[in-house]
Amino acid sequence: MELSLSNEQQMIVDMVRRFVREEIVPLEMHLDPDADQLESDDRERLVGKVKEMGLYGLDIPVEYGGPDIDVVTRTLMAIEMSQHRAGLYAPCYGVFGGAGLAQLFEASDAQKEKYLYPTLRGEKRGFFGLTEPSGGSDPARAIQTRAIQDGDDWVINGGKIFISGADKADFGLVFARTGGEGRGGVTCFIVDTDTPGFHVRRIVHTLRSAHYATELQFEDMHVPAINILGQLNKGFAIANDRLSRQRIPYSAGCIGVAVKAHEMALEYSKQRETFGAPLSNRQAIQWMLVDNEIDIKQATWLTLEAADRARRGDSFRKEAAMCKIVATESAGRVVDRAMQIHGGYGVTKDFPLERWYRELRIRRIGEGPNEVQRHIIARDIIGAGLR
Ligand SMILES: Cc1cc2nc3c(=O)[nH]c(=O)nc-3n(C[C@H](O)[C@H](O)[C@H](O)COP(=O)(O)OP(=O)(O)OC[C@H]3O[C@@H](n4cnc5c(N)ncnc54)[C@H](O)[C@@H]3O)c2cc1C
Repeated sequence: MELSLSNEQQMIVDMVRRFVREEIVPLEMHLDPDADQLESDDRERLVGKVKEMGLYGLDIPVEYGGPDIDVVTRTLMAIEMSQHRAGLYAPCYGVFGGAGLAQLFEASDAQKEKYLYPTLRGEKRGFFGLTEPSGGSDPARAIQTRAIQDGDDWVINGGKIFISGADKADFGLVFARTGGEGRGGVTCFIVDTDTPGFHVRRIVHTLRSAHYATELQFEDMHVPAINILGQLNKGFAIANDRLSRQRIPYSAGCIGVAVKAHEMALEYSKQRETFGAPLSNRQAIQWMLVDNEIDIKQATWLTLEAADRARRGDSFRKEAAMCKIVATESAGRVVDRAMQIHGGYGVTKDFPLERWYRELRIRRIGEGPNEVQRHIIARDIIGAGLR
């Protein structure tokens, strides 16, 4: 694995860093501290700039018009893109575009026409509906939503919980049981949100500033068989692949926030004086800063290693689990230390630290709780027999 950045990577990283500092951070000074959207004219202007930079639609494969940027470089960019107040859950407020639901690249031609291309053009939005009230850590066993065939349709009954953005979506991926127990009995359906029987039952507010989640209910919801994504009873592989891949940018976002929090703590500790000397002269503070450096470095290398394996086409499930654990836990510690160094200011909404502190807590649970990531690694090193 190459440990230094190529000239091209360094140029892209510098460009994104400048963009965040010159375009995003100044706008945030005038936004509500909990905002997750830009005014539409600012958004359009910045999307235009990103397109000029040749970086729009990062997650879109080249054959669909996305930029030709490998996963390691995209990971480096994700570390830069989260370095602002809303950066954890709304990196650069979405102005770099994105593919939304990556599974749709596996869709049939007709499904791509109806769902994928409008999503890429920003005309439609989708949700990802896997977790149920019966549990999200082990969805293969927990899924109780059932689909039963009825002529050319499938009739779905059941419900989902914690589903991000379903109330504003045009369609979503709903994982339902069509066969027996376990992962072999789950199918993925593409469901239009205006289908009779589809209900957003309630909004679920969490520690996240915005981007609330929803609870869904399906009552005798008829979905045509042509809306099955992939194959019958093979839906779990689709969910699993997406979750592993997603853990790399998820980790990168945490690292970016940690980098910025550490930078702020370092600056502040040099300026703030107590008992006649700057905070940075105190060993108690120095050790916090040193631990920040170590936390950030180890999270960065593990995340880049996972990305490098993904780039080479090697298996990266274990490495993605490792970086998810280390990045989410170390970023939480870094922001906590930065907050401590800032004293009272650290917990005010004048600084981004309090938002990062809250939102980072979700990261040890979202995209598969860290205990489950440890379980994935244990299964890998001990052997497949471990349940
Ligand atoms: C803000 C937010 C947004 C979300 N968005 C979505 C979304 O868009 N789509 C979607 O499908 N889901 C979404 N989720 C759901 C998320 O993926 C689940 O919350 C997560 O997978 C955990 O499932 P659970 O909450 O049912 O916890 P459970 O599965 O009940 O687990 C509870 C706890 O038990 C522990 N645990 C579990 N298994 C083990 C084990 N083997 N060993 C040791 N300890 C274990 C972990 O600490 C875990 O946190 C979202 C969640 C949140 C909070």
